[in-house]
Amino acid sequence: MNKYTRRRFIFLSAAAASAVAIASKPHRVLASQLGTSTTPSIAITPAISTFNYNQVELLEGPMRQQFDTNHEFFLRLDDDKLLKPFRQLAGMKAPGEDMGGWYDIDLAFNGRGSFHGFIPGHSFGQYLSGLARAYAVTGSKPTQEKVQRLVEMFAPTVCSAFYDGYHLPAYTYDKTSCGLIDAYRYANVKQALAVHAAATEAVVPHLPQKALSRKEQYALPHKDDAYCWDETYTLPENLFLAYRLTGNSRYRELANRFIEDDLYFDPLSRGENVLPGEHAYSHVNAFSSAMQAYLVLGHQKHLRAAQNGFDFLRSTQSFATGGWGPDEVFRVPGSGEVGASLSKSHAGFETPCGAYGHFKIGRYLLAVTGDSRYGDSMECVLYNTILGAKPLKEDGSSFYYSDYNMQAHKGYHVDKWPCCSGTFPQITADYGISSYFHDADGIYVNLYVPSRLTWLQYGSRLSLTQRTEYPHAAHTELELKADRDTTFTMRLRIPAWAGPKTVLSINGKRVKTDLTPGHFANVTRTWKNGDSIALEFDIPLTLQAVDPEHPRLMALKHGSLALFAVAPSTAAVTRASLLSARQLSSGSLDWEAKTDTGKLAFKPFHAIGEEQYRLYHEVID
Ligand SMILES: [Zn+2]
Repeated sequence: MNKYTRRRFIFLSAAAASAVAIASKPHRVLASQLGTSTTPSIAITPAISTFNYNQVELLEGPMRQQFDTNHEFFLRLDDDKLLKPFRQLAGMKAPGEDMGGWYDIDLAFNGRGSFHGFIPGHSFGQYLSGLARAYAVTGSKPTQEKVQRLVEMFAPTVCSAFYDGYHLPAYTYDKTSCGLIDAYRYANVKQALAVHAAATEAVVPHLPQKALSRKEQYALPHKDDAYCWDETYTLPENLFLAYRLTGNSRYRELANRFIEDDLYFDPLSRGENVLPGEHAYSHVNAFSSAMQAYLVLGHQKHLRAAQNGFDFLRSTQSFATGGWGPDEVFRVPGSGEVGASLSKSHAGFETPCGAYGHFKIGRYLLAVTGDSRYGDSMECVLYNTILGAKPLKEDGSSFYYSDYNMQAHKGYHVDKWPCCSGTFPQITADYGISSYFHDADGIYVNLYVPSRLTWLQYGSRLSLTQRTEYPHAAHTELELKADRDTTFTMRLRIPAWAGPKTVLSINGKRVKTDLTPGHFANVTRTWKNGDSIALEFDIPLTLQAVDPEHPRLMALKHGSLALFAVAPSTAAVTRASLLSARQLSSGSLDWEAKTDTGKLAFKPFHAIGEEQYRLYHEVID
């Protein structure tokens, strides 16, 4: 305590006094304040679902490597450090070092200057969630034990006083809620639901009556700007999930209370693009709240809001990488601000958070609509953004922004343990469940990644092993193992950009089925043990302008894969010279184009290290 200022000491003591009173009676909180539990009423059950985490195994490759690295990293992270701000604010003994960065308590924080102490304990729930999902993928006993232990140690710290004077109560509660739900769902921690109930009642007195936009928050009296950045509009997703798990009507009521219909979902559902000016990631994350609202309550407008919002995201806010929201802000279509950001900003796309939210809404929308374009969009974000994120460092250094500046570098965020350190282990754990889907008739192959799917179809035990270097090689192969002949439908995503020479073969013979780009190709047959499926993609090289106001600022793409010029001169190039780019060999990460001033080298995002690079080029013809 000796490093605390007197002011901080008084603050902590006062917090501790009320904390102990509440924390010691979590069960009374439950009994007196929570609503009644019944079988949850769910309006919509989509025909298409994800598989369970343990049904998809990533095989050797960059995605598996990224997942393993994150899993091991968070498994090693010290429990005491993780619990420290919660224990401090509950007036408990708080051994261990401070985590640093956003995670600590720092009463000097005021939204300007240093972000030390921005949101104490904010990402605890996300680390818990990442570990719970990693356990579900791997069955690693030490991982399950860590999740169990963290929930047990977190439980006595739960208190309403934690949020006294807290800048973003809804934000941190939303992440905590997700972690506890995942601990219960994926790591069999039974206690997690009771802790979740207590954590919910702890935050409720600190929440407004409805979801508030940033504009609405600024209009209220506030001590400093950071009090205007809370994200109440993302709460319904996890509250609806808690309702689905428990049947407790209290969660459903709270979820309803925070659906941001007035300023966001209602206009989106009417086709009005209200994204411009809004904080990017949290408003994409809010689409998932619209989807849970749709599934639980059954109102079509929430589905339309999520669909329209996602379409606006892709058509008016996105870079060639699939990333969006320069400086974390959505821009006015027609303003040319997305293109202008290439020279003004190095904060092109908030990558781990953005990719996490993008994948999550992509899965919801694919499951409800069966539209393969959501898979196309996930693939684009995967190869061009998140797969190139630098690994977390022990001190909390995190990859945050993908840089799309004309003179770009990869780097770590200035603040330790930011939001993106929380979503990174979540999205890498989600790689498997994003790769395959199923319905009653069979399966959907959504991502072409080295992986093995295991499932039961009409009582048959089946597994599908996919081996591929896609997108660096233009083909993928899948081999089926079956304990008996089984008739079902396999659907393979044909990307919207695929050319006419795309070919599907089974056991070496070309299959004449509809391979229309932008759809799933359906193959219904009696599948046999050892059947092999091969997809050969016709991948075009294309140029894509950053926005309509900058038609000469163009990125080079090979199918979904954006090609970044490395160590580039800023000299303008011709369209023809960019389109002369050739891969050095199939499977290679290196590309080369001939220009008037010599050769220009290109790489995919995940192959870029410290070198300067450039996504967009000034094209002169
Ligand atoms: Zn982030």
